Amino acid sequence: MKAQALSSDRKEARENQTPSSGLFFKVKKVLYEKRSKFQKIEIIQNDFYGRVLFLDGLVQTTERDEFFYHEMLVEPALCSHPAPENVLVIGGGDGGALRHVLQHPVKKAWLVEIDEEVIKACEQYFPWLEASLSDPRAELAIADGFDFIQNTRDKFDVILVDSSDPVGPSAILHQRDFYFKLKKILKPGGIIAAQSGSQILHLKEHADKARFLKKMFKVSRFYSGPVPTYPVGTWCYNFLSDRIDPLKVKELRIPAGLKYYNEEIHRAAFALPVFFRQAIGLS
Ligand code: SAM
Repeated sequence: MKAQALSSDRKEARENQTPSSGLFFKVKKVLYEKRSKFQKIEIIQNDFYGRVLFLDGLVQTTERDEFFYHEMLVEPALCSHPAPENVLVIGGGDGGALRHVLQHPVKKAWLVEIDEEVIKACEQYFPWLEASLSDPRAELAIADGFDFIQNTRDKFDVILVDSSDPVGPSAILHQRDFYFKLKKILKPGGIIAAQSGSQILHLKEHADKARFLKKMFKVSRFYSGPVPTYPVGTWCYNFLSDRIDPLKVKELRIPAGLKYYNEEIHRAAFALPVFFRQAIGLS
């Protein structure tokens, strides 16, 4: 849900986050550049952020700040579920979410990524992906997430939607019909967590999502956290379930070695600022 990229040349890579502001990275080296069937994939080296992955000119992940996003996408759901055995990650071809899922005692974790070229590029430049995919509990499917959920016979304890913005192949992963079908493959007591865009820039999209999600799930909460390289720094996620309210979980099962998420962050992340509550129709 980020704004259009301005340009990405060899000295500087820029993401235009609003019509009059954005983020730039000095490019120490272009490590990878390819146009796949779906999108333009670029990985650059930056002195501060390390390796930075862009898809169609929009930052997806960086070595230095990926933990903010991946921990907040994965941990509230995985830590709240009493026994997450079967987990599905839709999108997430950089492997950061999968790596966190596998730190939990899950039995199986699917990664369903539409673009094989993203997997190939990230296996080479983000070594955590290769390590995660070689875990015997991990299964990779190169498929459209929407097709996958229509055809799978599996049911899942936790589903994570690690999509990119609602343009191109990701557009479908932000729509009502997708969530309707996702719910059908969620086990009773299961949890869905989805990235849903910038807390500040995407108020209309959040309001639209809030309307249909609250009709679909007994528990439908937004939560947020910082991601320094995402527009404009504070990111939003949805927590959806028919049984588990993240604010009533007695014991969070938090794996060791995290850098951002802990019990206090879990509770604080569900606190919503006034402008956001108003935008999504909460009093
Ligand atoms: N959440 C991060 C962000 O907003 O910057 C991006 C994470 S990840 C790199 C997003 C992945 O979703 C991309 O690799 C993209 O190819 C994949 N993707 C997009 N549409 C998809 C679809 N319909 N099914 C499965 N994967 C998809």
